[in-house]
Amino acid sequence: MNKLPLIQLPNPKIKGYATVCLYVAHSTFEEPSDMAGVNHLLEHVLSTNDEIDKDIARLGLEQNAETHGGFVRYWFSTPPQHLNFCLKYLFKIANKPSFKNVKREAHAVRQELISLLSTTDYHTELAALKVLFPNSSYLRGNNVKDMLKVLPRLNSKNLKKYYEKYYKNKMFIVISGAKQLPNFEQTRNVGARFKIPRMMTSILPNNKKIIHIKRPEVEKSQCKLVFYNKPVEKNIKNKTRDTIHISTRILASGLDSLLYRILRGKLRLVYSVSCDAFVEPYGTLIEIEWSCDTDKVERCLKAVQTVIRNFTPHHFNGHRDLYLEQMVRYSVLTSKDIVELYGEELVTWGKYEPVDRVIRGVKKIKASQVASVVKAYMNPARCFMVHASSRGKAPINRLVK
Ligand SMILES: [Zn+2]
Repeated sequence: MNKLPLIQLPNPKIKGYATVCLYVAHSTFEEPSDMAGVNHLLEHVLSTNDEIDKDIARLGLEQNAETHGGFVRYWFSTPPQHLNFCLKYLFKIANKPSFKNVKREAHAVRQELISLLSTTDYHTELAALKVLFPNSSYLRGNNVKDMLKVLPRLNSKNLKKYYEKYYKNKMFIVISGAKQLPNFEQTRNVGARFKIPRMMTSILPNNKKIIHIKRPEVEKSQCKLVFYNKPVEKNIKNKTRDTIHISTRILASGLDSLLYRILRGKLRLVYSVSCDAFVEPYGTLIEIEWSCDTDKVERCLKAVQTVIRNFTPHHFNGHRDLYLEQMVRYSVLTSKDIVELYGEELVTWGKYEPVDRVIRGVKKIKASQVASVVKAYMNPARCFMVHASSRGKAPINRLVK
């Protein structure tokens, strides 16, 4: 009997494939400075153990692995008859993996990293991380240049050492869609959570609120406004997250959203605008992004600030209904979605909330609460802008006048 925690998640509404996933509660948040990017290479080496790729198509499996800030996961979606095969594999990489083909996989990782360098999003994201997580392993683990320096130094010996030191006792398996559980010791206690990084939450001086990056591929201006906040309390994080997500939809989803109406409809300044929110244990971030002519950056920014200041829960019921519909659609149908949603919540927050309970919570959200989260979490004092263009500097040098 193994000691790996195995957590049975709810089964999906549609019967079919089962999904099984190994979570490692350790990743780029905790990499030592001379090991930046090591988890990504480990991910490649572990997910190609036993030349598993040769079995995947033959058995009709879907397999992948991903390295995130605080965790790595290795998963399979499988027909019921091959569940034990997948579990055995995950169990092996959680106990006695081999560390072969390091050179080959390092080459693959290198190619992946280099292709990132040519995307604008990589550079704007890194610029934001430099502000929010200065001198941290999280920053290094997202910095392609740092990781490229480390890659040639990694070999099967130091990968194994790293694995022994940081992975052992930080792993658990979650499963959804299986009719009966295999012979595992079942537990509800994950016993492992990643180390939460420190995020900058202080107010930046006005002249430090615009970060310019020169990118030759950006013809006009690409702007990203980042609102940053202290972490929410664990017991209200679902409600806060859902309320924030509804507000981001009111702001920037579809042609009739608040930002779109003004920026494109009325002022004809942008082609598209997006708004995303991240409610994480280290903090809550809301990001608004758009592209515009460089000489229109100031007008766009003022228009965005005015919309936020005068926020109204426009079409609230419609946005909430669609949010609920998509929540059901993407989280209860397949075992893969369930594993992804609950598994991530388990490793990130230490426990998950069943989706029907989350849905009941969303139904209770009121328009006035959406307006208050915008006030609380989109405070102009806790905001900076990343501006990218092919020019040497940004057209404005302060966020507030
Ligand atoms: Zn990769």
